[in-house]
Amino acid sequence: MRPLIPFVHQSTSSEAEQWCATLREMLPQCDVRLFEQLSEEDKARVEVAVVANPAPADVAQLSHLQWVHSVWAGVEGMMASLADMPFEIVRLTDPHLAQTMSEAVLAWVLYLHREMPQYRQQQSAGQWQPRPYTDACDRHIVILGLGVLGHKSALRLVDNGFRVSGWSRSEKQLDKVCCYSGEQALPELLDDADIIVNLLPLTAATESLMDEMFFQQVKAGAALINFGRGASIVDADLLQALDRGQISHAVLDVFTQEPLPLDSAFWQHPGVTVLPHISGPTSVSTASRIVADNISLYLLEGVIPPTVDKSLGY
Ligand code: NAP
Repeated sequence: MRPLIPFVHQSTSSEAEQWCATLREMLPQCDVRLFEQLSEEDKARVEVAVVANPAPADVAQLSHLQWVHSVWAGVEGMMASLADMPFEIVRLTDPHLAQTMSEAVLAWVLYLHREMPQYRQQQSAGQWQPRPYTDACDRHIVILGLGVLGHKSALRLVDNGFRVSGWSRSEKQLDKVCCYSGEQALPELLDDADIIVNLLPLTAATESLMDEMFFQQVKAGAALINFGRGASIVDADLLQALDRGQISHAVLDVFTQEPLPLDSAFWQHPGVTVLPHISGPTSVSTASRIVADNISLYLLEGVIPPTVDKSLGY
């Protein structure tokens, strides 16, 4: 009997079918099926499942589950709902996603660096007013989170001439990037940042990290890009920081509630660019290739890929 690999999800049926069809092509040795197509007998023999924001009640029915492979890079939803369950969680680490995210980081850093929001406002006011030019090497970009996505983004910014620093939990060494670690290093870093890019996972330690105290430590007039998770920002504190000019502009791609509710002050704020969670979309084809290779290796050699540290939450 072929190993049974269910796709457990809360996606639309067409999205789920697309994942299943691609995984079936890449795992011909397996029986890949939607969770809703499993009998009770099937459920009892599943060892590995591919998941996309699964309902905890569905996963709990897979009594012999050893590990799940998420098709997303972020796992905070699963940490909140599945961390107590006895199986391991593997998240997506995809070089293609890192490339796409680093492109978005570069694009929006350039948007802020070349002062496009300010020129847009000047145009609206019919104002012909060249602003002083700043060289890229005189712009200090600080990336919060030097993981798979932050690392690639930092190098891409270096390649484009920016002065780049990064912040992580553990110590790092990256060519031409000044690396800092630990809470004590953050105030000094913020005080010298022109553009802050958040690529941290959402955990107990990073939830509400960007609060009133954080914004007080930021150099006056710095800009912020949030491509990590919305709940790392205290929205009311960011709005205050924008209103008093401490933050000159914020590019926000992720929000505590998505889609962003229509009554959110972010929509109309002149200092905010709202994006609909598009900075790092998962590619079904490259992600399926990675998931399929990881599952094939497990079936051949029993090797589970690096798992999420449930105590750290990422
Ligand atoms: P990752 O490889 O796990 O990297 C996380 C980085 O954050 C690591 O450098 C880690 O430090 C650092 N970190 C974690 N907790 C910290 C803390 N308390 N203080 C300082 N640094 C801390 O994750 P990734 O693949 O780069 O992804 C990052 C996040 O991007 C995801 O969790 C997800 O939320 C978000 N994301 C967004 C989109 C989008 O479209 N907007 C798409 C994909 C992912 P260490 O290196 O020391 O562990």
